[in-house]
Amino acid sequence: MSNIKMVEAPEGVEGSGFFATQFDKVVGMARSNSLWPLPFATSCCGIEFMATMGSHYDLARFGSERPSFSPRQADMLMVMGTIAKKMGPIVKQVYLQMAEPRWVIAVGACACSGGIFDTYSVLQGIDRIIPVDVYVAGCPPRPEQILDGVLQLQEIARNESIRRRNLPEYQALMESYAIQ
Ligand code: SF4
Repeated sequence: MSNIKMVEAPEGVEGSGFFATQFDKVVGMARSNSLWPLPFATSCCGIEFMATMGSHYDLARFGSERPSFSPRQADMLMVMGTIAKKMGPIVKQVYLQMAEPRWVIAVGACACSGGIFDTYSVLQGIDRIIPVDVYVAGCPPRPEQILDGVLQLQEIARNESIRRRNLPEYQALMESYAIQ
């Protein structure tokens, strides 16, 4: 017996020979099940991501099996590891090179808050330089937690209006990070 689960179709109106739904919901379903990650791994948390990609945890089950090392073909920036202040502008540049819609997961205590490195040289959380959608706690987080973070991001992507990125609130958020 197969345990493969199929993605549910969005809510809609069904009848013989037709199915009608909202454009937002179809786009949300497609986006949420094809989030291509850009793994920005600088230290130990990156190893947990490697385990998450492996056959046991198998991130591919959620449509994210294709890591993109070019920001231009990535949807989901996953920052994993300690980010030194010198590295901050590089993270931001990678984020800027990603096309909209783009999402960010801060994986592990270092990316979320600087972690144990409360010191002059370490960025105390990547949300000082780019907006973050999901925070995954832990030092390091287990692969299950990383998967949970991806599932939470899927939920955000699935329910996001396709107009969100044109809204004044979103533009104000970008401006607060000096991003045009
Ligand atoms: S959160 Fe812990 S495991 Fe992850 S990069 Fe920082 S020190 Fe390493």
